[in-house]
Amino acid sequence: MARNCIASIDLNALKNNYLYAKSLSPQSNAIAIIKANAYGHGAVRVAQHLEGTADCYGVACSEEAVELRNSGISKTPILLLEGVFEESELNLVVEHNLWMVVCNSAQLEWVLNSQLSQKFNIFVKIDSGMGRLGFLEHESNEVINILENSPNVDKLTLMTHFSSADNTESSSTNTQIDKFNNIVDSRQNDHSLANSAALMAWNDAHSGYTRPGIMLYGSSPFPFEDKFTGLVPVMTLESTVISIKKFKAGASIGYGERYICKNDTLIGVVAIGYADGYPRSAKDGTPVFLNGGTARLAGRVSMDMITVDLKGIKDPKIGDRVELFGPNVSIDEVAQYSDTISYEIFSKITSRVYRTYVS
Ligand SMILES: *Cc1c(COP(=O)(O)O)cnc(C)c1O
Repeated sequence: MARNCIASIDLNALKNNYLYAKSLSPQSNAIAIIKANAYGHGAVRVAQHLEGTADCYGVACSEEAVELRNSGISKTPILLLEGVFEESELNLVVEHNLWMVVCNSAQLEWVLNSQLSQKFNIFVKIDSGMGRLGFLEHESNEVINILENSPNVDKLTLMTHFSSADNTESSSTNTQIDKFNNIVDSRQNDHSLANSAALMAWNDAHSGYTRPGIMLYGSSPFPFEDKFTGLVPVMTLESTVISIKKFKAGASIGYGERYICKNDTLIGVVAIGYADGYPRSAKDGTPVFLNGGTARLAGRVSMDMITVDLKGIKDPKIGDRVELFGPNVSIDEVAQYSDTISYEIFSKITSRVYRTYVS
């Protein structure tokens, strides 16, 4: 490979993170959320490595589920987190033995009217305050009753999703839990509430099926709170130095002359840019790691390159390996410098970046 821009994915770290997620609520089943190509980590490889360990997988659409089934993920249940988008997909649900969320009136009708021979395993989604998908409080009981009585429905699980579980100061999560419990309390069905943040911080949300996503990839929903440890970064994004030059004080670096050298400055160019998924919104000062030290972004991110101030870096040379995030640079710090979240950076790493797997 000529251009050494690599996302190296540590599958053992991934499995450890899954087991850690599981240990936080050992009595629950943990649905490993691997939508959006496993947050950019490669859903097929991730699922293959978790086979026999994961209780279930969660994906966003039937295309993602079918890709897994076609890659030999044949037994572990796969849940469609947004259900189906059109009625004809119910055939795929049956053919590939998928579980699905029902979260709107159209899906409800499709399921009830289905003439397919097989029953569906359904998670009915209740909107307890997220304000996005799911049935509202006043309609939920009727929907649950209808599904319970449909000959097309096999097991029915009751589900909701939190808007603010990553904010331990907010009362919204408890409000949502109360609202959900008021609707479902008298019923025997399994529940599914917790995303990563709720699994880590809200014990009352642990039941039935948990749904850890971001934590599997080693990024915490509470990145700047020390009490939540135990996660190991899975992806290391790296590339190499392709130019080093010394500039005089006052020189400008890159597009728009955003960075002006305050002193004589050694600037390295690294072969990674926004076309690789490195965020263009990254500000000056965003950390990168090379030769045992931290260098800082200096100037606007280009399509194929970034420029970094090499001050303090030992003996920098063309060809040196640079870590953009991984064990030495937290993705959450890069995300903070880029006004975004780790989820977005992970899921936008493009196909130009060569993915390599270690286990
Ligand atoms: C993506 C998703 C999750 C996982 O959320 P994380 O914050 O990544 O843990 C859980 N539940 C639903 C319904 C989702 O869509």
